[in-house]
Amino acid sequence: ARIILTADRAATPTAAPKASTVPGIRKLVAVASGKGGVGKSTVAANLAFALARAGQTVGLLDADIYGPSVPTLLGIEGRARVENDKLQPEVRHGIKALSMGMMTDPNKAIVWRGPMASSALVQMVEQCDWGALDVLVIDLPPGTGDVQLTLALILKPDGALIVSTPQDLALIDARRAVAMFGEVNVRVLGVVENMAGYCCPNCGHVSDPFGHGGAEKEAEAMGVPFLGRIPLQMAVRTASETAQPVSGEPAAIFDEIARGVIVTVGL
Ligand code: ADP
Repeated sequence: ARIILTADRAATPTAAPKASTVPGIRKLVAVASGKGGVGKSTVAANLAFALARAGQTVGLLDADIYGPSVPTLLGIEGRARVENDKLQPEVRHGIKALSMGMMTDPNKAIVWRGPMASSALVQMVEQCDWGALDVLVIDLPPGTGDVQLTLALILKPDGALIVSTPQDLALIDARRAVAMFGEVNVRVLGVVENMAGYCCPNCGHVSDPFGHGGAEKEAEAMGVPFLGRIPLQMAVRTASETAQPVSGEPAAIFDEIARGVIVTVGL
């Protein structure tokens, strides 16, 4: 069989993606990682708390469509309310939060193709009653896929933070995340090393289950700032699981990271 395809009209040029401006939101900051399980959601939530402590009006959008953690991190149960056709964020510890987990059944898998996940991201930003925000922190899914591209091309964030553990396997993927943001002209605000240095609560001995300093070296090699090192601590995990901001030394590190973000994105 011979099939001949013809076109009697010139192809319509594909429309360039339109930049979205969300009225009332001054700055968008994304938190990304190359891999899952490196503490990206923990960093996103605690960065949001730290920005709020620094006097900013903050929103946190959990766009980790396939594994939303913000309902647990902030103690939010049930579905998102809708008022005047707008999704209503929940307020916890002084920040407004919306998560995909507030729209889906936690016991059901989210089986979506990329375009659906991407349009969910844009809708959650644009069709949520955020009110006036200084900054919306967006917790992205891990990796470099459709959602990240949509974020970069449509929402045009003011910067992205990359979270990695110090171990090589996570760093390789962090490098890919940095490269992707570079290609789509999103400013990489820097790399945060998480789960570095475990201090035994019994004997005080510090060990490095995931290595030490890898993310800092990698940030230097990629020419992006190194923002800080969060220790691997039982208290960080328990704070997350009891829906509390971290306290003590990790909180001070997040305050420092937040100060850096405020200056770099011009808040
Ligand atoms: P991701 O968003 O990258 O998948 P999460 O933020 O959900 O990762 O973190 C994965 C798990 O690791 C959670 O149980 C979280 O409480 C824990 N965790 C994250 N960072 C730390 C840390 N610095 N110390 C101890 N546990 C941590």
